[in-house]
Amino acid sequence: MCVGQPDDVTDQGEPILEVDHVEDRANWGRDHPIQMIALCPNCHAIKTRGQTREQLRELLLTEARSRHTAWEALARSLVNLG
Ligand SMILES: [Zn+2]
Repeated sequence: MCVGQPDDVTDQGEPILEVDHVEDRANWGRDHPIQMIALCPNCHAIKTRGQTREQLRELLLTEARSRHTAWEALARSLVNLG
């Protein structure tokens, strides 16, 4: 959904991303990948103070949980192979 410039990179070739707690740390957010996500600076600002922030927060929580669950399944299958 990002309509910023997600393909742009820094001089070092790194993505321009900011790590965000989807649930604010003051509101039970914890340092756990299941609720952390990397956003471009504009999406981060929208998520923090945009009028659509609540919809974006729900979308990001779903996405973070989905990706974390997929990662856990992959890690489990790799352990079982080893
Ligand atoms: Zn963005």
